[in-house]
Amino acid sequence: MATQEYNASNFIQDIINEDRAAGRYGGRVHTRFPPEPNGYLHIGHAKSICLNFGIAAANGGLCNLRFDDTNPTTEEVEYVEAIKADIHWLGFDWDDRCFTASGYFDQLYDWALQLIGKGKAYVCDLGLEEMREYRGTVTEPGRPSPYRDRSVAENLDLFRRMKAGEFPNGARVLRAKIDMAAGNMIMRDPVLYRIIHATHHRTGAAWCIYPTYDYAHPLSDAIEGITHSLCTLEFEDHRPLYNWLLEQLQIPDAPKQIEFARLNLTHTITSKRALRRLVEEGHVGGWDDPRMPTLSGMRRRGYTPEALRNFCTDVGVGKTNSVVSLAQLEHFVREDLNRTAPRMMAVLKPLKVVLVNYPEDQTDEFTVENNPEDPAAGSRVVPFSRTLFIEQEDFMEEPPSKYFRLSPGREVRLKGAYFITCQEVIKDSQTGEVLELRCTYDPATRGGEAPDGRKVKGTIHWVSARHAVDATVRLYDSLFNTENPGEGGDIVANLNPDSLAVLTGCKVEPSVSQARAGTRVQFLRHGYFCVDPDSSPELPVFNRTITLKDTWAGARAR
Ligand code: ATP
Ligand code: MG
Repeated sequence: MATQEYNASNFIQDIINEDRAAGRYGGRVHTRFPPEPNGYLHIGHAKSICLNFGIAAANGGLCNLRFDDTNPTTEEVEYVEAIKADIHWLGFDWDDRCFTASGYFDQLYDWALQLIGKGKAYVCDLGLEEMREYRGTVTEPGRPSPYRDRSVAENLDLFRRMKAGEFPNGARVLRAKIDMAAGNMIMRDPVLYRIIHATHHRTGAAWCIYPTYDYAHPLSDAIEGITHSLCTLEFEDHRPLYNWLLEQLQIPDAPKQIEFARLNLTHTITSKRALRRLVEEGHVGGWDDPRMPTLSGMRRRGYTPEALRNFCTDVGVGKTNSVVSLAQLEHFVREDLNRTAPRMMAVLKPLKVVLVNYPEDQTDEFTVENNPEDPAAGSRVVPFSRTLFIEQEDFMEEPPSKYFRLSPGREVRLKGAYFITCQEVIKDSQTGEVLELRCTYDPATRGGEAPDGRKVKGTIHWVSARHAVDATVRLYDSLFNTENPGEGGDIVANLNPDSLAVLTGCKVEPSVSQARAGTRVQFLRHGYFCVDPDSSPELPVFNRTITLKDTWAGARAR
């Protein structure tokens, strides 16, 4: 399990240390990650996963996976499976401790009967609108529901009949009987159960009453022996209710809820509901579209689990909401890929180069190292021949003064191979488009250095035409135009129409054509790329994960 990166110094660790010093929970630390299976996990969830699994491991404790599946209308098995796969990919494991709130429905129901028996819960017939009215406002206290003083016997009878399916959706709810004048509106007799006639992905038609999050969550924590229930700041106001329920039911060693700040990222949406809209309305190719901030999208894009974990550690755990720059995440992606991705050459927009003094049937082979950052990555053989492809943008017929790449009469270095000089430009007589360059090479410069010490200012990459494999390359830009995609109220209006560019007819080194989906490489000067699941040996497909921060192209000589 991935624990090494976890930085166990934050306010939550301080609370754990205090609990241990005071002998609470017998020194145990037991957390849980509780996703609702109503969508795929996103980068925000990664923070919660790293925190929950990380802090448990750092304290010799355990972390459960718990599906918070209390809403049958929005939840699906597809999401359950995807969530599990994503957590494993991120590097964490729940062993045999995968639980579901729905697995506790019987116990939760029994506890509801107990609350009713103690006069702490009642069945209320107010409609949604009326209930809102009775609830008051932040400045005005609420009014008691006319059903608040029903007898225990009547409440028990009605609640049992709710369960038995006698009433339609919305006809009645079970509410806690707390305080309609409470300053904290959450405590004004919150709803514990509602009637929903729907099929649940796990329990089928067994239930037509479903507990609310506020009711199910603390009690699920209690059932699992959770000690520290970590959730995001918006649940701070819910904490008194969390504690109230555990108190009423006299749960020993009751878990404690601790809130931390959500992760927000610039140019990014971290809301499953909003992301689901993008999928359902077809604005993206699916939950795993490489532009999506989902873990499955980032995986397909080529982000590594190490990079995400390092990022989450770096962001830390705090009590104040803030927005982290996407650049910070990208920094960790680059840092990891720089260490691990083998270097290759690929020409995305090919221009043909013929070396007129290079024998027709000759082939050179250059052995080049795969990763200068990692000697263990070894080397590979790159073939060279008379006809090559270079990047269209590496040639200019009339170069401006700072342009040091190829132009008529100019000598440049083909990366790791030879110096070449452009002798002739072949153009389409109609359009003037440059079709081909005729160049000479200097055999004395094999390996890319001149024995006479002469220098060239430009180094460009290339592939041998005869050996190259055709590939499709997908280039991505930010999915949203704005730093805060929610601004203006409509995320769809802020979508970037140019977030995807598909290049076909790209030319890649032969060695990469057999790479399996998920393989990550650096194409020199173009950035880091990942083989897409759509790829085949006949037609490799690469997603650009991220550009290089720094390129060695252009002006700088090597
Ligand atoms: P969403 O709005 O995307 O549905 P959620 O909080 O409703 O988010 P859950 O499935 O309930 O989604 O989340 C599971 C856990 O992940 C919760 O404990 C939640 O607090 C945490 N979480 C969700 N989003 C973030 C985030 N942006 N940063 C940190 N933790 C998050
Ligand atoms: Mg939720």
